[in-house]
Parts: sequence; structure tokens; C-alpha cells
Amino acid sequence: MDHFDVAVVGSGPAGSTAAGTLASKGVTVALIDKSQFPRDKACGDLIGPRALALLKQLGIELPNDSTRVGDMYLDSPKGRRLTMAAAPGVNYPGHGVLMQRSRFDALLHDAAISSGATAIYDRVEGVVALDSKYEIATEKGKVTADIVIGADGANSQVARSLNLIDERSTLFGFALRGYVESNNNKAIISLLDQSELGGEGRGIFPGYGWIFPASDGLCNFGVGVGVGSDKKAASTVNRAFTYYKEFLATKGIVLSDSAPERRRLGGWLRMGGSGSSFGSSKVLLVGDAAGLVNPLQGEGIFAAIDSGYRAALAVVDRPSSPLFPYAIEMKERHLTYLEATASLQRMALKYPSLFSKASEVLCSPLLPKIIGSSWGLFYNDLIEGAQNNGSKRVAKALRSSAMALRLAETLVA
Ligand SMILES: Cc1cc2nc3c(=O)[nH]c(=O)nc-3n(C[C@H](O)[C@H](O)[C@H](O)COP(=O)(O)OP(=O)(O)OC[C@H]3O[C@@H](n4cnc5c(N)ncnc54)[C@H](O)[C@@H]3O)c2cc1C
Repeated sequence: MDHFDVAVVGSGPAGSTAAGTLASKGVTVALIDKSQFPRDKACGDLIGPRALALLKQLGIELPNDSTRVGDMYLDSPKGRRLTMAAAPGVNYPGHGVLMQRSRFDALLHDAAISSGATAIYDRVEGVVALDSKYEIATEKGKVTADIVIGADGANSQVARSLNLIDERSTLFGFALRGYVESNNNKAIISLLDQSELGGEGRGIFPGYGWIFPASDGLCNFGVGVGVGSDKKAASTVNRAFTYYKEFLATKGIVLSDSAPERRRLGGWLRMGGSGSSFGSSKVLLVGDAAGLVNPLQGEGIFAAIDSGYRAALAVVDRPSSPLFPYAIEMKERHLTYLEATASLQRMALKYPSLFSKASEVLCSPLLPKIIGSSWGLFYNDLIEGAQNNGSKRVAKALRSSAMALRLAETLVA
């Protein structure tokens, strides 16, 4: 049995960032993942501007051939289009980057190993607290550590085995992605209601379809839906995925409606900081294991690397009680936004047709252009670090409205 200062379970963006940061500061770290790298991961592959800024700060360089995405387009169910104009912030670039997760995650995993983390390829089955350490049971053996970082994604085994998650109060989402040949060079998000999906079922509201330009003439496309705590409701996604591909073909976006789609893969999202805390005692949850996905659009990579990095710093600064400083920082950096937008998603789950109508108003061509850039800042959680201008002021007002909704929800409960 091996003993480490820290065992990081899961080597996605959150775990690799945590392990790399710790190892570079002289901490002994086991980085345990059930998969060998490179491995695939269901994702839209879009790495947002704040994630790019943090990666740069951490000295992680992305390959030059990654596709840049600036403006994004939000299409309403009736086909109206809102342009979410991108702009550089004071501390992030005016674009995101598309990079297949198999490559991106392998890059971060390799960086953590080069920094000195010990890679263990094994499935974690449970974590037990002993007197002054933790025992991490894997399929093939055991590891012990003084501190555990749970970075094992939306279905975190670490969170489950220590009873750190309550699924009944969790906002889940489920999304399917594939790659398809396409002439599309825009990042498009399509809000779809029942009529677009052949009038069957409840459509995928709240949820959306997306198509993003990847590379080599391929686009990453998919559909995602919010289901609250009712995981069975995710069964609509398979059908919606097929309809969405047909829908794109009717818009002339996919090269041919018979173009085969490749590598269809699905995954759960745990959103809005719901259903779990940031850990207990000397176990810290990071990334999807802590439910840090944006409930409005499903982005989770930035919060994953940011929480992995902050958890590692808390461990280095306060090894005897890292949870307190880590949780305070997460509240400030992520939880306020996540909880406010989680309230919006809960409302959308309750009143899907109202939200469908609201999206028509949002995408109306009659609204001033500033709405597009402001909505982009709010929707993509880019308000902190945005340039001080009218767009930021409107975006802040949108965020305040969501926070007021959250307050009302809490008072009613
Ligand atoms: C279809 C889809 C599209 C998405 N699109 C985007 C997007 O475009 N942009 C964006 O920012 N976010 C997107 N997200 C969210 C994003 O993928 C996640 O937020 C992000 O991957 C979280 O990183 P993580 O490191 O916390 O977890 P993960 O990336 O899930 O990594 C967890 C790791 O833990 C390992 N693991 C799990 N269980 C065990 C175990 N028992 N033992 C050992 N290892 C284990 C896994 O093998 C994996 O490597 C999308 C999600 C989905 C499902």
C-alpha cells in the first residue's frame, strides 16, 4: 500500500490541474483515474475565455491549430437570432477555443505527471476515513492519503461513498454529442421547442442543441437538457439528438442529412452548485464532483480547472484545514452566480412554455444590439473581468434579477 500527502481521484481538467499544482509545490500526489490517456469525454469541446486565461497563467499552452470561437449565436425556437458579440475582458481574451477533449485532457494529465504527480490507472470504489488519514479502495488495491480531492466528475464515487451528495436536491442535465461533416463555421446554440422536434414529448426545454466548428471539416454538435432531479427525463435526449441533426440539415447547415455522425457519446452534468457541499473535513470536491456546471449553458471546464487550482492552493496554505478557505473562495468565485442561475433553471423546468416565449423576446430583432453582448456576458459568466461599459452594466442588472429570483425562491421555501 502506498501513502501520499494527497490522493486526487479523477484526472479530468479539475483533477489534473489540482494534481499538477500540488506536485509543482513539492506535495506528494497520487493522480488516480480509471482510464488511460488519451481518453474521450462527452463535451462540446468549447474552452471559454476565462479558462484560457487561467490555463495561460498556469503555463499550459494549447496547440496553435485549435479553432477560435468569438461571437456566438443564440437561435430562438421560431428562428430569431441573437448575436452574443464577444469582446476581450481586462483579464481574458475575446474568444474561446475548440479542442477535442481527448487531446485537451491528455495535455493536462501529461502536464500533471511532468510536474511530479504519480499516475495510477485504476477505478476507485470507495473512500473511508481512518483515524488520521483516508483509505482509497481501488479495483486492484488500496492507497492511503492525508487529504483527498474528489475530481471524479458528475457521478463522483468519492462524494457518494462519503455521503456528500443528495441527488434529490440536485439539478442534473444530460447531453449527447457527436461529430459530423459540416460547412458551418459559426458557434450556434439552438433553443428548440416541441414543434422543431416533431411535436413529440416535451421537447428539450430547458435545454438546447448546439453546433460548433471543430476541425478538419467536422463540427461538434449535440443536444443537452436539464432534468432537475428526475434522471429518467433524460430519455428524451436520444430522440432529440436525431431530430436536431435533421433540423440542421433542413437549415442547410450539415453538408448532407445522410452524413454519418461519429463518436456519439453522452454524459451527465451536475449544475448550479446543487446537491452537495464542497467536501467535509479533509476531503475537497472540485469540478463536476462539486456540481459547478453553469445551469444556463452547460459550461464546466473553467469552473473545473479553477476549483482544482484553488483546492490545491488551499491544501498547500492550510494543510490542517483546507476545506474552510477553499469553500469561502468557491462561494465568492462561483456559487453566487451558480445559485442564481440555478433558480432560473428550476423556473424553466416548471414553466417551459413561458421560457420558450421569453426566448423569443430575448432574440427579437427589435431589441437594441447591446442586449446581445450583455446577455453573452451574463450567459457565459463573463461579468467579472469584463470591460467597464454599458454591456457590463446591463449584464450586472440581469445577474441582479437572477439573484433576486433566488432570494424570492429561498423565502418561499
Ligand atoms: C455532452 C456535454 C457537453 C459539454 N460541453 C461543454 C463545453 O463545450 N464546454 C465546457 O466548458 N463544458 C462542457 N461540458 C461540461 C464539462 O465536460 C465538465 O464540466 C468538465 O469535464 C468537468 O471536469 P471534471 O474534471 O470535473 O470532470 P470530468 O471531466 O468528468 O473528469 C472526471 C474524471 O474522473 C474519472 N473517474 C470517474 N469516476 C472514477 C472512478 N470511480 N475512479 C477513477 N476515476 C474516475 C473519469 O475517468 C474522468 O477522467 C459538457 C458536458 C457534457 C456532458
